Amino acid sequence: MPDTADDRIIREIDQRRDALVALTQDLIRIPTLNPPGHNYLEICEYLADRLGRQGFFVELIRAEGAPGDSVAHPRWNLVARRDGSGPGDCVHFNGHHDVVEVGHGWTRDPFGAEIEDDRIFGRGSCDMKGGLAASIVAAEAFIAACPDFRGAIEISATADEETGGYGGVAYLAQQGRFDPARVQHVIIPEPLHKDRICLGHRGVWWAEIETKGRIAHGSMPFLGDSAIRHMGAVLAEMEATLFPLLATRRTEMPVIPEGARQSTLNINSIHGGEKEQEDGYTGFPAPCVPDRCRIVIDRRYLIEEDLAEVKRELTAMLENVRAARPSFQYEVRDLFEVRPTMTDKDAPVVRTTAAAIEKVLGKHADYVVSPGTYDQKHIDRIGRLRNCIAYGPGILDLAHQPDEWVGITDMEDSAKVMALVLAELLEP
Ligand SMILES: [Zn+2]
Repeated sequence: MPDTADDRIIREIDQRRDALVALTQDLIRIPTLNPPGHNYLEICEYLADRLGRQGFFVELIRAEGAPGDSVAHPRWNLVARRDGSGPGDCVHFNGHHDVVEVGHGWTRDPFGAEIEDDRIFGRGSCDMKGGLAASIVAAEAFIAACPDFRGAIEISATADEETGGYGGVAYLAQQGRFDPARVQHVIIPEPLHKDRICLGHRGVWWAEIETKGRIAHGSMPFLGDSAIRHMGAVLAEMEATLFPLLATRRTEMPVIPEGARQSTLNINSIHGGEKEQEDGYTGFPAPCVPDRCRIVIDRRYLIEEDLAEVKRELTAMLENVRAARPSFQYEVRDLFEVRPTMTDKDAPVVRTTAAAIEKVLGKHADYVVSPGTYDQKHIDRIGRLRNCIAYGPGILDLAHQPDEWVGITDMEDSAKVMALVLAELLEP
């Protein structure tokens, strides 16, 4: 039997198992903590050096003026491109290089990249330096096996995904880097697991609700008007009407986990009355009727819902409270919003990845949608590129946890899937 391109690719990846492990370890050992955004230049230079040696044209791009960008903590991004032997599509792998804080509860060095059995431990191993490394090895193995490929391969390592992506993918998208005329297929190797294709995410609306009252002496509350009691009425109304309503609203989106397959609302914070005192303050509070109370809500909405309607629904609920409380006054301030996005199952990058999963793992791909957002939002909204998925190794539940790890075999398998996707989309 003659050797097929797929056989050669699989063999190239098998030979690179140690290189894949070493690359992942090197990336984990550069602590790119965000916030505030440490070592972004260092990790981009490390990757530029490696990909430059593999024949990629590399660019270091600073998101100057983006939120968080400063002289002390510049927001550096890397874009590497390797053109093939003729015209064709461009396949882009986008991985974020930032990691979240370490937190408590570790039993290992969070930046030691220790190996035990089939696991590499460290902050960012799963989310998502393992995925970034797998996509790089996939590209290198594919190029070695199929040097005459057509089109182009791009690999980006971007900043700030954990804090919204404004100094990373959003900035690159604003520069036209995800223009569909330039890039046709995007894979984001976030840790969704090697047999799952993530098509998109639910929508987000963050808002602050403030109730207003009138300050007075706490010994004569009848002379004031308590903003906290007004907020209590808002929360009671939410419990009585809004939460039950949201629980009935189901989506056709295959959101995981199952509990997120409906509209949800979280109250992120509540604050009313006098400011909390610094730790160590030993005095008493002052007796005042609170004249302001605020909550921040995080409403996750479905592709079947309309954002304007989501906002109207909240206002209608507040109007119900007002009807029962003559002095009730409120204000709603928008903080942040992201529209839901879901790539079509028939999109080329989805079909090709599903076929590659079958070849490598011998099973059908599962299709999922993320409960929270990730950088796909910018590629969709700013870049206007719809042919985009998240696909990569790692178990999502381990992200941001102590003793985070990524499986070596999982990385290897997903690198094979990504390399076979390249072979299908860029074949000579
Ligand atoms: Zn991530």
